[in-house]
Amino acid sequence: MRFQSVAELDFNEYLDAIIQAKHLFTRALLIAARPDVIARFQAYDLALPQHQVPALVVMDGPTKAALLACYNVGTIPLSELKNAILASLLSHAPINLQRCPYCMLNDPRTWDHYLPKDSYPEYSVYHPNLLYVCFGCNQRKRDDYDAAAPLYCHPYFTVPEAETLLHCAVLVDAGALVISYYGAAYGAHASAGDIAQRHLERLQLPRRFQAEAAALVSNLIGELRHYFPKGVGAEAMKDVLRRRFSDAQEQLGCNAWDARLWHGLAFCEEFLDYANAQIIAADVPSSDGFEIPAPKHR
Ligand SMILES: [Zn+2]
Repeated sequence: MRFQSVAELDFNEYLDAIIQAKHLFTRALLIAARPDVIARFQAYDLALPQHQVPALVVMDGPTKAALLACYNVGTIPLSELKNAILASLLSHAPINLQRCPYCMLNDPRTWDHYLPKDSYPEYSVYHPNLLYVCFGCNQRKRDDYDAAAPLYCHPYFTVPEAETLLHCAVLVDAGALVISYYGAAYGAHASAGDIAQRHLERLQLPRRFQAEAAALVSNLIGELRHYFPKGVGAEAMKDVLRRRFSDAQEQLGCNAWDARLWHGLAFCEEFLDYANAQIIAADVPSSDGFEIPAPKHR
């Protein structure tokens, strides 16, 4: 999960442009609904920063269809709105367009309605509700919501810029490294920590982070074996982990699974002995087959 800043866009401007691009009947419905929709935008802005969800509103079928058509039927003003959101994300940090803010694993390529448009059609084109995420997260999240409390971290409203919600605990059990991820936070951020835990579970992130983390640890041990073939000392290990932690935090933010891994390893007392056992063990990966050329590509 990652903090992002909401784009500074004037919803009056893009909403009117989208309404004007619609056919007569839809346009008339949208013009009639406009004051209510604007009031609903304000309800969104009040609820989300408080880690709440705005109340569900039941609306008549034709109005709901007209609101959904604002997003489902492509128009030039809608494309311009998406481009403006992307430009804002890029201007804050290129990483925003390189890693999905929900998982920080894959590249974002799709638009997610944070509050699903089928249940909250009034937010079908509201820019804080349009998040640029990866295909996998979009698929896993589907149309989930809970009117009582947010189920997922919203990068603009749930994830603080400098407060950690994601944690990584590492321990050595019967000679094996056990890495686990969970969501939690101190004091005023405790409710955001609870949302983070739900977010992780629902997007099946702990298991995916674990697999990525195991690969990073094995790369780390390979590198340490190269520089410290006789084993690494406690201070050197701490320096390596601290440097990787700061680099990852600087590049990816304080809630990226990679940054949290280096932190988790630094706080695992048995990790030094575990790493040294791996470094000193003679079972360096096999290079059998290195001398055999590959067959020609056909
Ligand atoms: Zn994702």
